[in-house]
Amino acid sequence: MEALFEKVFVKALRKHSGIKKQVENKVRMIMEQPLTLGEPLKGNLRGFYSCPVKKSFIIIYLYCRACRKKGDDTVVACSDCAERDDETIKFVLIGPHDEAYGI
Ligand SMILES: [Zn+2]
Repeated sequence: MEALFEKVFVKALRKHSGIKKQVENKVRMIMEQPLTLGEPLKGNLRGFYSCPVKKSFIIIYLYCRACRKKGDDTVVACSDCAERDDETIKFVLIGPHDEAYGI
């Protein structure tokens, strides 16, 4: 499994450095079971998954195998999906629930 971290994710992690450990643990767990832990999002976040780190604080990510399985990789906003291996997870964002859904 390959993990990619978007710039906004890294930046947000720096901002929320107090829970860095918790986020890192969750990232590791997601990499083992991306589909079990994630909740698929809808609407214009279709294709994305969210997973809570703690109450009201979530990680948003993409799993490229899932992007393609849906057969709607043109709808899923996974920018360079075609160049990625199936087993790629892109960590898009972390943040308080409401803020994260505003992307
Ligand atoms: Zn993808």
